[in-house]
Amino acid sequence: MEPLPKRRKGMDEGVDSWEVHPILSDEQSHDIKLVEAFAAPIINKKETSRLLKDLATTYPLPGLQHIKRVRARKSDKHPHPLEVVICLVDGAPEVKDSKEVSLTTLLPSESFNSSGLGEPFTVKIPAHPSLTRPQFEQASVHWPTTFHEDKQVTAALRGQLFTAAQKAKMHKYMMTAIRAAKAGQEQGMVPVGAVMVDPASDQILATAHDCARGTHPLLHAVMVCIDLVAHGQGGGAYDFDPFPACQFTVPDRQPVEGSSDSVAPGSTQEQRGEPYLCTGYDLYVTREPCIMCAMSLLHSRIGRVFYGTTTRDGALGTRYKIHTQKELNHHFEVYRGVTQHLCEDLAEEPH
Ligand SMILES: [Zn+2]
Repeated sequence: MEPLPKRRKGMDEGVDSWEVHPILSDEQSHDIKLVEAFAAPIINKKETSRLLKDLATTYPLPGLQHIKRVRARKSDKHPHPLEVVICLVDGAPEVKDSKEVSLTTLLPSESFNSSGLGEPFTVKIPAHPSLTRPQFEQASVHWPTTFHEDKQVTAALRGQLFTAAQKAKMHKYMMTAIRAAKAGQEQGMVPVGAVMVDPASDQILATAHDCARGTHPLLHAVMVCIDLVAHGQGGGAYDFDPFPACQFTVPDRQPVEGSSDSVAPGSTQEQRGEPYLCTGYDLYVTREPCIMCAMSLLHSRIGRVFYGTTTRDGALGTRYKIHTQKELNHHFEVYRGVTQHLCEDLAEEPH
């Protein structure tokens, strides 16, 4: 086998040299958890629907609505083609040794007509519904489950969420962020760059680099970028004149139907057709944001974040997944890997 060609360093790497990876929540990316249950073969198929009805009453299996109660056994090794979940091992009465359980302990004959059922055995079944197709495929090996597929997540996991044309745009935006990072570096700053884009208009609203060694120690590239977006909306707290690569554009206003120039005083930004902070915007940043920057993006109601390379204390995938926290009131999509190698090359020091 020939050795892989050495990766060329520089700006000539194309769209095909990187892939976009979604950063999913822990629940979506974990391996499935299994729980032990008792099941039994159905030896008289004619009893199947009655048994299912009676079992649903005796052992309703709360929290396991994703479990299909019956599974088909197609292989020759299994003389009985159908098997049914009776109950969880934890939910079974008076079971001391799960290996020596009998039908009558699980389903006392005075209250349950178990004719048609064979001797019980233990089986591992998925404890939670599957959130992604890989989880569903993993779960199906153990016991059949229902699956409400999120097509977008499946496409994202297969790297098919974005078209070649969309990837070309991402490449272009990240190259702008990389150029900003390099311009900052030339002024003695940490080489991190960020670009805010309105995907509705393909307009770059702000281009920023880290200014922490200049204006203020907390002015990471993302913070600068958010402040520049605010400048474009008539706000902004800092003066970035000493850093010509940090720029903003006033967003094109989408005229809102029925609106007029004489806006009544007291109307909100949104009523005037202006964006609220970063709502619906995409951020491209050369490396994974820290927790402060990730929280600022959350407070700004960012739409999506694309970053090139991970960081050791990163808050959008590595150390935390701020964008997926259930307790927080805003969630957003995060993807890593855009022009990954070029972003890795920016690393000035180990991080
Ligand atoms: Zn930061």
